[in-house]
Amino acid sequence: MKVEFLGSFKDKFPYPRYKEVVFCGRSNVGKSSLINFITGRNVARVSKTPGKTRLINYFLLEDKIYLVDVPGYGYASTSKAQQREWKRMMENYFKKRKENIDKVFLLIDGRIGFTELDNMMIDWLRYLSIPFVIVFTKVDKLTQSELAKLKNSIKSAGYKYVMTSVKEGVGKKELLSLLI
Ligand code: GDP
Repeated sequence: MKVEFLGSFKDKFPYPRYKEVVFCGRSNVGKSSLINFITGRNVARVSKTPGKTRLINYFLLEDKIYLVDVPGYGYASTSKAQQREWKRMMENYFKKRKENIDKVFLLIDGRIGFTELDNMMIDWLRYLSIPFVIVFTKVDKLTQSELAKLKNSIKSAGYKYVMTSVKEGVGKKELLSLLI
């Protein structure tokens, strides 16, 4: 796949020539691993310094769509100031790019399930009327019965979802079909 790193942004973003798909979730959810997995390239750094405020990374896929990697939330040692900075940056991002966002992939650690912050993120996306797809990560860590339980809970909530595991190579085709 053709992947071009366009840069890291805070306030100003690339000209909206293409629609964008946003990857977001808790820090350590497996976002960098998943981006590398589906692009087949080592583009996203697998987190070495969790909690450090990062910027919003733009990639252009196949000269067709922007993949937007936004900083993770919820790292335990994040300071109040860093949390405020994350919130400010994300509010600004969604405000500026709302019209250009095709959908958000909200990554949820299959083993942990929905946390309070994930639910807040969902409320926020619904409030902004931004379409989102739940992407469960690390499903290789689940037993068959845990997997079935997760599927049932998500079905009753009525969300669109995809199951993924980088470790076992699951979900790539499905994610790509939603992405490009
Ligand atoms: P990020 O902070 O959201 O970018 O998460 P990373 O991609 O850095 O991954 C966090 C941790 O989860 C790392 O130790 C990864 O090796 C691990 N991880 C990521 N994806 C998977 C997966 O599909 N299965 C398993 N078992 N571990 C994973």
